Amino acid sequence: MKKRTTALFVLSTSLLFSSVVSANTHSPRGGNANGKIQAWYDSSISSYGYTSHFDHAVSTWNGRNANVSISKTLNNSGQVDRYYVGTTSEEGLYGRNIWYNDLGIPVDPDWFSWSRSVVSVFDNQLRNFNGGVNFTSARIKHTTAHEVGHSLGLAHTTASAQVSTSLMTAGDNSSVNRDINTPSSYDISELRSLYGGPGLMASSLNADTSNQNEVDIETQYESYDTLSELSSFSDLVVIASPTDDFENRKHIATFYDTGDLQDYYTLNNLSIKKVLEGDSSNIVENLEVIESNAIVDFGLQKVKMVNDGYQETQKGTEYILFLRKDPQGQYQIINRNEGTFTLDEVNSTATNRRGTFITRDNDIRDNLLNEIATTYSNEL
Ligand SMILES: [Zn+2]
Repeated sequence: MKKRTTALFVLSTSLLFSSVVSANTHSPRGGNANGKIQAWYDSSISSYGYTSHFDHAVSTWNGRNANVSISKTLNNSGQVDRYYVGTTSEEGLYGRNIWYNDLGIPVDPDWFSWSRSVVSVFDNQLRNFNGGVNFTSARIKHTTAHEVGHSLGLAHTTASAQVSTSLMTAGDNSSVNRDINTPSSYDISELRSLYGGPGLMASSLNADTSNQNEVDIETQYESYDTLSELSSFSDLVVIASPTDDFENRKHIATFYDTGDLQDYYTLNNLSIKKVLEGDSSNIVENLEVIESNAIVDFGLQKVKMVNDGYQETQKGTEYILFLRKDPQGQYQIINRNEGTFTLDEVNSTATNRRGTFITRDNDIRDNLLNEIATTYSNEL
């Protein structure tokens, strides 16, 4: 695994694209509804033992739409999709698809046309999460088929009547069934809306990527909806504030041998004010933690890679943070935005909180805030 570390660079322009798109599809590949897809398997798939899981993913999407087919190829040059089994430093991260343009730069498919997809599933999480949970074959097939669904341009299913049966339901949805590994009729209808007819949204997409510097990726990750769940998967709960601006933190990216992006995160130095839960004996005044998101240098362009709308913690702001220790002994912030809560937010009333922070679910966040405010009332 190649590892690149960058630090001390500054984004030249502010973030241009932050709106939330509610449709359950992104854009079709190539901007022209070309669903004839060549898929290349990296050697990591056979060496980690995932060939049958990826074969399932390919076959379960094949034949669902007359305009969409996936065929395996032994040649990875050109605009073929690439599938990998990798490892990630993020605890509970199972899979991720990244869309690239012709220049090899990741793009947000809600706004830009894209040329190929790179699917990753993460063996150290699927087979060894939480000290040894080994997902069943059905669950691994759920992950590979779900990510290949993203590779076709499908977004997460949000329609409440569909989430319990859709293969494309986000992992953080409490209705997600991780044993589903074939598309539902709704998923197939979404595929049809992408590839099945004229007048596609792709004609309005911008092919110029020169001013896009943030790409938000949907991932499959382990999420917790209640304080007891969150606490039980945390090794440390602290009040802390970052000592550096995001741009000045260590930005880590790992790449497969082919140059495709595998993993990315920042190392965030925290000033610890108080330990609320966990063993404080080894915790010094400052603690470096893994945090989601990173600025990645793709040569032609630097791109801020964001996971699931995660908002990185801000320098000088005091937070209650839920930290998990990974097998290497490194702490990390878990549960995306529902693992970071500012003291101001905890101390304000529920009605003031709402709308202030991006969250996957307002009710889940409100409940967590109420539980945190009650549980730690003597500590704040
Ligand atoms: Zn997903």
